[in-house]
Amino acid sequence: MPSFATHPYASFIQEIEKPARYVGGEWGQVRKPWDRTRVRICLAFPDIFDIGMSHLGTRILYAELNEAPDMLCERAFCPWTDMERALRERGLPLLSLENAKPLSAFHVVGISLQHELVYTNVLTLLDLGGIALRSSERADSDPLVLGGGSVASHPEPVADFFDAFVIGDGEKKAAEVARRWVEDLERGVGREERLRHLASLGGVYVPSLYEHRFDARCGREVVDRPRYSEAPLPVVRATVPELGMFPTRFPTGGPEAVFDRLSIEIARGCSQGCRFCQGGMIFRPERERDPATIVECVLQSLAHSGQDEISLTSLSPADYTAMAPLVAQLSHHPSLSHVALNVSSLRAYGLDDPTLDEIRRVRVSNLTFAPEAGTQRLREVINKNVTEEQLLETVRRVVRRGWERIKLYFMIGLPTETQEDVEAIVQLTSRVRAEARAARESKGRSVQVTASASTFVPKPHTPFQWASMVDLDTVKEKHRRIVVWAREHKVDIKMHEPHGSVLEGLLSRGDRRLGPVIEDAWRAGSRFDGWEGNVKWGIWLAAMERHDLQLIDYIKEIPNEATTPWSHIHVGVSEEFLRQEWEKAQRFKHTLPCLRPADPASKSDKLVCYHCGLDCDLEQAARIRSQRMSAPVADRAPAAMVASCDTVQYRFCYEKIGRASLLGHLDMVREMPRIMRRAGFAVVYTQGFHPKAMMGFGPALRLGVPSFEEYVDVKMQELANPEEGLAKLNAICPEGIRFVRMVRLPDKAPSLVQAIGEARMLLGIDPSAVEARGGVSWLKERLGELMSSESLPWIRNHKGKERTLDLRPWILELRMGTEDDAVRMSEAGIPGSWVMVRLHHALTAQGSVRIDEVVALMGEREALPYRAVRVALTKTGGRSVMPSAEALGVEVL
Ligand code: SF4
Repeated sequence: MPSFATHPYASFIQEIEKPARYVGGEWGQVRKPWDRTRVRICLAFPDIFDIGMSHLGTRILYAELNEAPDMLCERAFCPWTDMERALRERGLPLLSLENAKPLSAFHVVGISLQHELVYTNVLTLLDLGGIALRSSERADSDPLVLGGGSVASHPEPVADFFDAFVIGDGEKKAAEVARRWVEDLERGVGREERLRHLASLGGVYVPSLYEHRFDARCGREVVDRPRYSEAPLPVVRATVPELGMFPTRFPTGGPEAVFDRLSIEIARGCSQGCRFCQGGMIFRPERERDPATIVECVLQSLAHSGQDEISLTSLSPADYTAMAPLVAQLSHHPSLSHVALNVSSLRAYGLDDPTLDEIRRVRVSNLTFAPEAGTQRLREVINKNVTEEQLLETVRRVVRRGWERIKLYFMIGLPTETQEDVEAIVQLTSRVRAEARAARESKGRSVQVTASASTFVPKPHTPFQWASMVDLDTVKEKHRRIVVWAREHKVDIKMHEPHGSVLEGLLSRGDRRLGPVIEDAWRAGSRFDGWEGNVKWGIWLAAMERHDLQLIDYIKEIPNEATTPWSHIHVGVSEEFLRQEWEKAQRFKHTLPCLRPADPASKSDKLVCYHCGLDCDLEQAARIRSQRMSAPVADRAPAAMVASCDTVQYRFCYEKIGRASLLGHLDMVREMPRIMRRAGFAVVYTQGFHPKAMMGFGPALRLGVPSFEEYVDVKMQELANPEEGLAKLNAICPEGIRFVRMVRLPDKAPSLVQAIGEARMLLGIDPSAVEARGGVSWLKERLGELMSSESLPWIRNHKGKERTLDLRPWILELRMGTEDDAVRMSEAGIPGSWVMVRLHHALTAQGSVRIDEVVALMGEREALPYRAVRVALTKTGGRSVMPSAEALGVEVL
C-alpha cells in the first residue's frame, strides 16, 4: 500500500471541508492491482460522497463488478465547491478513491443518474476527470462514459454528454458492456464501431447512433430513426428477473453518509400503481427477495460492517409479503440483540401491530407517511391507496408504541388540484397532530408532527407524463396560502424551494436542445442544483434565452398521442396502459395494486393484473405469495443484550495516521463501536430507546492532525485471548488506524478524561517561512524567548466572543526537533520537508493551548505555514495512561 504522503492531494486536503470524502481508505474498499487488471471501471457519482455512499445502486455495482477477477471498480464523487476550487487552482484532476487515478485513466466511467438536478454535476465530473464533455469530442482511447439509473429512461437533455446508457437494471448489463468495450479496444476496433457493438447488446442506448427531428405535436425534438442496423428502436430495458443475495461487503468507516445505516433492498418495483411515481412504473414488476436470503444478507453485512442499524428498503416495504415473519426473525436473532431495525416506510399504515412492536424494540426513530394529497378525491386521482381513517388509526397505533416524531409528505400542483385540495393539506396535518396528541399516554410526552409539501413534477413513463406542470408564480401563490393556513391551524409545514422543482420539470421532459443550456448553466457556475436553495434561477433563464427556448413549452400539457423525447425507450409498461391510467385519473377512478388478490383479506389465489405490457407469471407469483404468507412467525422471546454485570473495561491505545487523520472526532466516535463489533467483541450498550455503545474517548484531535497515540476505553465481555483480540482488531480497521496496546482496567479506574493531563506534539514549520525570518537560528532564539517568558497573553476568539488568556502555563516545553522527528512526519502521512519543533503542553480542566496559537506565537503573532503530529498523551508528569503490568498483576499487550 503506498504511503498517504505520496497521494497527490496529501499536501492540501486537510484544508478542505470533510477531507476524508476524497481519499478512500475505508474498511471494505477494494483496491485491486491497477496494471494487472484487464477491465478498469470508475463509478463516478454526480453528488457528494455523503449522498453517493447511501445509494443502493452504487453499492450493488461496486460489489458485482469487483467480484469479477478481470475487473476493478473504483469510486469517485462530485467534489463539493471548495474541493473543486482547490483542484482547479492546483491544476489537479479528480481522482478515484481506491488507486487515486484520474477518471480519464479508466476504460469505463459509469455515472448513475438518480434525478435530473445532477446534470451540471455530471459536467463537473467529466471536466475535472480530464474527459471531453461531449461524446463527439472524445478520442479513440478515451473512456466510455456510461449512464444508468432511473433518469437514463429519459436521457435526451444529456444525450450529447454520454456515449451510452444502460436502460433498466444495470447490475449484470454494466459488466457485459465494460467487457465488450475493452475486448474491442484490445482488438483495435474504432470508437464508433465499438459503440455500435454496445447498442447490439440489448438494454443499451447509444444516442449518437440515432437521427432526431422536431415533433410539432410534442413541441420537442424526438428520436426519429437509427443510423445503423445494430441500433434498436425502441431500446428495450434490461431486467434482472430474480433478486439473489444483496451485496454484503461495502466500504465503511469513512465520513458519515446521509443514511448512515445498513440498507438492504428487500424488493424492487412496486405494485401500488401511484400515477405520479416513475419508480413504480419503470421497475415493474415487483420482485421480492426471498426472506431467508434477506436474513443471510443482514447477518453477513452486519458482521462485515459492524453497523448497529438496519433498514429494510424498497419502494413500498410495507407491501413485502412476508414482512411480519421477516421482522420477527431479525429482531429475535441472537446475533442482532443490539441492532435497531428500521423500515424505510412511506406506507407505515401497511404494517401490522406485532411488526411495529418489533421495530420499536431497540431504537425508535421517525416514522414517515406519504398521503401525498389532502383530500380523498385527489388521492383517487393519483391512485394513493390510503384513506384518512387508515392514516389516523395508524398514527394512534404508532404513538401508543412510543414514536415521538411523525412526518407527513404531500405534493402540490397535482393534476385536477383545486384550492380545497391545497387547504386540505393543512387540515389533514392538523387532524394528524390532534390524533397523535390524543394518543399520548401522558400529557407531558411530546409528539412532533411535521409536514412537507413538494411540487409535483410530471415524469416520463408515468400516467401523468402528459400532464401540465404548475408554473413558478402558481407554486409561489400556493405556498403563500399554505403559510397563512398553517399559521391559522398552528401546524408546521415545510415547503420546498420552488425553483428546483420547476427546473426538474424542465429537465425531466426535456429534449436534446437542452444540452447546450445545461452546459451554459454549468459554465456560468450552476452546481448541485438538487440541493435545497441552490438553484441559480437567473443563470438558467439566461441560458434558455440564449438558445431561444421557452420554459412554458416544456411544462405545458403534451397531447397524449404525440411522440415524446423518451418514446424510443421501452421500460416494460406499455403506453396503452399509461394512457388508460391517465384517463382513469381524470375520472377519479382507482386502480387496485396488481400481483395481489383484489380483496387483501381473501385467501384467493387469483391475483389482480392489468396486462400492463409485462408478462408476469401470475401462477408462480401466487405460489410464492402463498408460501411466504404461511411462513411461521419466529418465537417472540427477545434476544438477550450483553448484560453489563458480566463485563469488564479495556483501554486500547491506537494510531490514527495517514488517511485516518482526515476522520474527525465524531467520525471516530461513530466508527469505533463498529470496529469493535467487526472484531467480534461483545460491546455493552446503555439501556433505553437510544442505546449507545459504552465507550470513553481521550481529548479530541484536530481534523487533519495525525496521531501515534490515541486512547479509547471500551466496556465489553472479557476476552479469552486478548492477544488474538488485538490481531483481530488490526485486521478490520480502516487504513491508518492500528491498535498498538490494550489492557484490562481495574474496577473504578479513572476515565481517560480524568487520566490524561499532557500531550506531546511535533510541529513541522515551512522552511521558506523560517528562512524569510532569519533561518533556524532565528527560530531557535524565538523558542528560547517564548520559554523564558513569564506570561504569554493571547486574545482567543470563540464564536465571536473574545477572551484574554495567558498561554504560558500550558506550554511545558518548546524546543527544536531532530531529523528523526522529520521522519516521523513522513511516517504519519505528511509530505514535504519541514523545520521540526517539539511541543509539550498541558491538558487541564480549564482548557489548553491550541497549536495554531503556539505557531502564531513563534511567528511573532503572524501565521507560519505548518503541519502537526501528536506523538503522545500522558498523565500529568509524563506517566503512561496505560496501567502498568505490575500495578494490575496482569499481562499488558
Ligand atoms: S403484468 Fe400485470 S401483474 Fe405484472 S406488473 Fe403489469 S399489471 Fe402488474
